[in-house]
Amino acid sequence: MQQMDLQRSDFLRVVVVGGGIGGAELVRNASIKEGLDLVLVEPKDRIECQALYPDYLGGRIDIEDMTAPLDPFCKKMDVVHVKDRALKVDFADKRLICEKNDLDYDILVLAPGAVQNYFGIEGAENTFSINTLEETVRARKFVEKNRPKKIAIIGSGPTGIETACFLAEYTHCTIYVIEMMDRLLPTLSKNASILMDKILKGKGVEVLTRKQVESIDEAGVAFTDGSSLECDMTIWTAGIRPAPLIENLDLPKKSGWLLCDQYLRVQGRDDVFAIGDCAWIEIGGKLATKTGMEAEIQAKHTARNLTRVAKRTDLKPYSIRASTDSPVALISTGCGCAVGIYGDLCVPIPKRIIYTFKSWIDKSVVKRFK
Ligand SMILES: Cc1cc2nc3c(=O)[nH]c(=O)nc-3n(C[C@H](O)[C@H](O)[C@H](O)COP(=O)(O)OP(=O)(O)OC[C@H]3O[C@@H](n4cnc5c(N)ncnc54)[C@H](O)[C@@H]3O)c2cc1C
Repeated sequence: MQQMDLQRSDFLRVVVVGGGIGGAELVRNASIKEGLDLVLVEPKDRIECQALYPDYLGGRIDIEDMTAPLDPFCKKMDVVHVKDRALKVDFADKRLICEKNDLDYDILVLAPGAVQNYFGIEGAENTFSINTLEETVRARKFVEKNRPKKIAIIGSGPTGIETACFLAEYTHCTIYVIEMMDRLLPTLSKNASILMDKILKGKGVEVLTRKQVESIDEAGVAFTDGSSLECDMTIWTAGIRPAPLIENLDLPKKSGWLLCDQYLRVQGRDDVFAIGDCAWIEIGGKLATKTGMEAEIQAKHTARNLTRVAKRTDLKPYSIRASTDSPVALISTGCGCAVGIYGDLCVPIPKRIIYTFKSWIDKSVVKRFK
């Protein structure tokens, strides 16, 4: 185990775990000028924008369009990139233990995101997923090489819907969207479900609601009501759980997610912040959504609060922008179109403008790290 000594004296040493949207955005906004000495721990070489994975699967963009190399970005930001995976934290000695290095910190920011949740369903882990770049590349290769005739997409959240729309545009196969609840997009408004049902059916996508998956194998999907669906490719988009690192940390949690206070510090600790998908952020009766948009705003807010820690001034409380009771979503529906959702409001028109807007937002996320 290597003990890394990277500290600039008189600076507050901030170790950030995870260089995804939250971690990278924090690094971009926190600055050495403000008395912060930043170290980013991330095992990957590139910052990835998950929001563009469905576009990639649908053959609309390349890997370069949805990722940015991490090292040049960190160099530009005067931040040390430690290419390593965090394993656990020694909170008493303020030390992050990684696979290859041990890192001392004054403040730890946890942003390791989430991983796919298969809920222990038999065979689900052998399906395709588009939660990581590697998985999305594998799925696209499979589609291009094997030209499946029937594709089942499990889960009808924004990711499942976007995947169905892009594949309907890109392939000639029959696509099924399978949802356990009684409507598509169950976490969004009923208006959104009705509109999306119409859009999917217009593209020839088969929508199966009230279908709970029991098991999956090479022949297809078996449901708990005894019925089954034959298919030659299954893509799992139903649900996420905290990154494995979080399980190893003895910190307050809710449903496995790190429980944060109004300053985005993990409850009961003034030296550990958590942002993005790994965090449970509930403030004033509102619960933050697990979206890139929220991760970004949380990162910017935390960067400003870290400066306040360095200057020993009072922290400012966070205000949630996209909450579960008033979610904001831009869902690409293929053919250069998208639907904008804000609470009960759905805006399919003018469609191309919304898609152009969404595409601009997603791609500008990547560009800002280049
Ligand atoms: C297919 C798909 C489409 C999406 N579309 C949208 C959208 O249109 N709009 C939107 O707002 N949101 C969207 N999201 C959600 C959005 O991508 C996430 O909410 C956002 O990426 C969360 O940011 P994060 O920084 O918390 O985690 P991530 O971006 O997942 O980054 C986590 C990083 O931590 C690293 N890491 C994990 N464990 C460790 C460890 N032990 N040590 C060191 N590093 C570690 C990972 O390698 C990763 O780079 C989508 C998600 C998916 C999967």
